This record gives sequence, structure tokens and C-alpha cells, in this order.
Amino acid sequence: MKDAMIAAQPRPAAGDPRIIDGKAFAARLRQAIAAKAGLLKAGHGIVPGLAVVLVGEDPASAVYVRNKARETVATGMRSFEHRLEATTAQAELLSLIARLNADASVNGILVQLPLPRQIDPQAVLDAIDPAKDVDGFHVVNAGRLATGGQALVPCTPLGCLMLLKDRLGELSGRRAIVVGRSNIVGKPMALLLLGESCTVTIAHSRTRDLAAECRRAEILVAAVGKPEMIRGDWVAPGATVIDVGINRVPGADGKTRLVGDVAFKEVLSHAGGITPVPGGVGPMTIACLLQNTLTAACRQHGVPLPE
Ligand code: NDP
Repeated sequence: MKDAMIAAQPRPAAGDPRIIDGKAFAARLRQAIAAKAGLLKAGHGIVPGLAVVLVGEDPASAVYVRNKARETVATGMRSFEHRLEATTAQAELLSLIARLNADASVNGILVQLPLPRQIDPQAVLDAIDPAKDVDGFHVVNAGRLATGGQALVPCTPLGCLMLLKDRLGELSGRRAIVVGRSNIVGKPMALLLLGESCTVTIAHSRTRDLAAECRRAEILVAAVGKPEMIRGDWVAPGATVIDVGINRVPGADGKTRLVGDVAFKEVLSHAGGITPVPGGVGPMTIACLLQNTLTAACRQHGVPLPE
């Protein structure tokens, strides 16, 4: 019955103003980064460099790493790829990170997660120089974000904040809920919204009456990892919804398809704005990685970020 109701709703028209087009925004952001990288090279002779480390053969990770390298080069920055065997010992990975920390041509270091079982991801993340931690996962950057210092901010929540500011302008005083409290998405997202003077609720698996909590929010960010969990009637009329979730579900044609944590068609009829999956938050993540690499390079050289 529920499926029939969902199917009966009109499909969003192309160019629907309620849809927040992260793909188009990310393309504009990459253009702006490329222009700034050009100014940095022309003015100071600096070409930012990003080192990406992949351990093992995980096919999805290999695709991400390839895309990151391609986009890094396309914005006029240097890309250094390091591919290690799945059997690599933790000590070997740590010694590569020590070399990258000491290499002045490398301004950003990203270790693709997940790592093979023999390697402790926290030990690896902690070994990265916080000034080069373009993923923003180092405890020093997490602490700076929490205390309002000059942090490198995790890419996905940074991308979500950019989309929100672009859509809503001033965020101060708005009621926001972040569903999910992971260290890589939920917590930094909540801190970024707090930094914008939103009134922030953080919800998680133990939250009571999540639907009612969500209905109070003007801004809803879903970062749960549960396909289409956020339903239409959980969303206040006119609210802005950012869907971070990426979930593979079986499609009608026997292939898998991607859906978010938000029941898109249902929520579209309530929301003032919503990011689609795919094409919403996903493309922002790599663009923000490039932005962080540029920022890290400028800070390391003590030069201002080009305007
Ligand atoms: P985690 O699994 O680390 O965290 C999920 C969070 O959701 C937890 O805090 C958990 O609560 C909460 N949660 C789980 N079930 C419920 C529930 N029924 N009700 C309320 N809260 C619940 O996931 P991540 O934060 O790493 O990722 C979240 C989603 O975002 C995933 O789909 C992931 O693929 C996607 N993602 C997308 C990115 C992109 O570039 N677009 C980048 C990173 C992630 P508790 O803490 O209580 O267990």
C-alpha cells in the first residue's frame, strides 16, 4: 500500500527548484578551486600536492582513489598515488606516512578507508601530520573544530554546510537536527551547524520518537546508513533536507540502485529543499577534499587563500 502511494506521487521535474543539485554546485566549486590554484602558482610558485594511499584491492576504494587523483590533476594540483598490497604490515604503512609528512611537495595526505584487518585505522590516522590531514579525522583537527579553532574539517560535512549556506543564506538561530553521530559525518556536521549558531539536536539509534524530533527541525541532515529511513511525515513543511546516506538496494531490474537515508519522493512533497542520491552530497565530498588540500597548502606556506 505504502509503495503504491509513493509510486502515485509525481516524479520531480528536471530543474525542480526544491532539488539541491550537489553535482552542479561541486562543479562550480572545482572551477573556483582551479582558479585559486592558478593564482597560487602564478603569485607564489606553489602547486598543492595531495597524496592518496590505498592499501589492498577493494574495488569501490580503487574507484574513489582514481576519481580523487583525476580531479586533483584537473584542478591544477599534483596527485601522488601510493598503492600497497593488502598484506602490508602496519609498520610499513606508518613509515610511508612518516615519509609523506616530511615531504614538502605533499600538502595533503589521505589514507583510503577501510584498511585491512591487520592495520589499526586510528593509529594510522593519528600518524598523519594534522597540518596535512585533509580528511580532518585527526584528533587535533576534531578538537580544533570542537573548540572553534582553525581546523581542517571532514569533507562530507563541510560539503553539506556549503550546500545549506548556498540554499538558505544565514543559518543563525535555525533549528537543525543531525541524525547520526559518527566521528566522520554526524558529530562534525553538528559542530559545524553549532558554529553557524544553529540550535542543534543530535539524534542516534537510542533517540526516542525520532519522527517527532525530526518534525521540529528546519534543517535535517540524515547520516545513518539505513535506506529511506526518514519518511515524508517526519519532515516539517518547507524544511531543508540533506541526505548523506549512500545505500545499495536491489532494483526492479535485478541490478542494485543507490538510495539515500531519506525516502526521496515522499519527503520531496514536504521539504523546501532536498539533496538527491546520487547527485547531492556525494559529489561535494571530493570537491571539499580539493578545497582542504588548497587550504592546507596555503597554511603550510603561510600565504592567504587566494580570493
Ligand atoms: P556510521 O554507521 O558510522 O553511523 C551511523 C549513525 O547512525 C550512528 O550514529 C547510529 O547511531 C545512527 N543510527 C543507526 N541506526 C539508527 C536509527 N534507526 N535511528 C537513528 N539513528 C541511527 O555511518 P557514517 O556516519 O559513516 O555514514 C552514514 C551514511 O552516510 C552511510 O550511508 C554512508 O555510506 C554515508 N556516507 C556518505 C558519504 C558521502 O560522500 N556522501 C561520506 C560518508 C558516509 P549509534 O551511534 O547510536 O549507533
